[in-house]
Amino acid sequence: MGESVKRLGIMGGTFNPIHYGHLVTAESARSKFGLDQVIFVPSGHPPHKRLRDNSDAEHRAMMTLLATITNPAFTMSRVELDREGYSYSYDTVNYFREQYGDGTEIFFITGADAILEIFTWKNAAELLRICTFIAATRPGFDLGDVHKLPEGWQDRIQLMRIPALSISSTDIRRRVHGGDTIKYLLPEAVENYILKQGLYL
Ligand code: ATP
Ligand code: MG
Repeated sequence: MGESVKRLGIMGGTFNPIHYGHLVTAESARSKFGLDQVIFVPSGHPPHKRLRDNSDAEHRAMMTLLATITNPAFTMSRVELDREGYSYSYDTVNYFREQYGDGTEIFFITGADAILEIFTWKNAAELLRICTFIAATRPGFDLGDVHKLPEGWQDRIQLMRIPALSISSTDIRRRVHGGDTIKYLLPEAVENYILKQGLYL
């Protein structure tokens, strides 16, 4: 599978729901860093929440698929959804390293808020060794704070300026709950899916 993919982007998230902030971030990274493919990886769930949140996970997967299907360079992976127990980005990156082999360089794409929390991630130092991070600007978070991370880590993080989109899944869920419009904040297919399934009411 990985023959033609020399540079692979991984876009992790809960995607509850996926929105234009995620899509602009991934597409900007694809273009700026010459990525052949970007794989969106909806996050899995802690084992103790498994039953209750399984349906939620399927909705997140479906919405991610609907949002990414129109971009030939985008795909989605269920690897974290189908894995037992907690999901860690470290395990996910290792999974794709094995799938694609040594000829593929891996880039992990995040927004500013996520990169500033990277020291809380499992095996953060090792993760930064096996893939390059691309950190996008995000309204409300200061990418300048990356300089507070250990120096060896900063070398592994590429900063990327993108058009500011003050969109979050939290805000979209609140809007739906409050009866406000979510049009133009996310792809129409995802908007329709949310309304049709009665999500976030
Ligand atoms: P929630 O409000 O539920 O936390 P979210 O909008 O932050 O949702 P996530 O699924 O948590 O979305 O984010 C996945 C990744 O996308 C993270 O790396 C996050 O930083 C990035 N991201 C999300 N929204 C934006 C945005 N508007 N601009 C830049 N990056 C974003
Ligand atoms: Mg978030």
